[in-house]
Amino acid sequence: MQKKVTNITFDPGLKEDIYWAEVLRGLWITNRHFVVNMWRHTLRMFGVKTKIRPAVTYQYPEEKRPIHHRWRGRHRLTVKQNGAMRCTACMLCETICPCDCIHIVPGESPDPSIEKFPEQFTIDVLRCCFCGYCVEACPVDAIRMDLIEPEITGYTRDILFTKEFLLGQTKDRPWEKWIAEEEDKVEAVEES
Ligand code: SF4
Ligand code: SF4
Repeated sequence: MQKKVTNITFDPGLKEDIYWAEVLRGLWITNRHFVVNMWRHTLRMFGVKTKIRPAVTYQYPEEKRPIHHRWRGRHRLTVKQNGAMRCTACMLCETICPCDCIHIVPGESPDPSIEKFPEQFTIDVLRCCFCGYCVEACPVDAIRMDLIEPEITGYTRDILFTKEFLLGQTKDRPWEKWIAEEEDKVEAVEES
């Protein structure tokens, strides 16, 4: 069955035509906030505290905003007391991930009492929406998200968190090596 399509036309009136009125209204609101805020800060500077706190600006990235204790930041893979990985490569986290950013390659564990373990465990963190579903889904508490901000907005453009990186065994970021290799290839092509 064909769906009915409704066309909506926008006919700007006099108020939209005289946009200067709206521009001036916007400037008035911005300046009012600025003056009121400065006034509250000045009062506090002289020890006069008002009920309403003045707006606070953080000088990011030098000064970071305090993180809430329920913040779920960078992922981490946990280990047992004997140092072995908790993860059993059950694939639940990979299945539930709405962003399709977890990739696990299961392998046979050298320990006969364990069926499987992840030979590779990678999180494509640029795709991650930090929903925490992977942590919720894990039946053995093998993956956690801690009070660490993922450095995904840095200049290096972090791409993949490898198993070793998630286990904290290395601080090496393999993608930096891959980027350098790609840059070498481009330079070689340009020189030839
Ligand atoms: S936090 Fe959400 S999006 Fe990110 S890896 Fe876990 S399940 Fe996927
Ligand atoms: S981290 Fe947890 S949910 Fe994900 S594969 Fe390992 S055991 Fe399964």
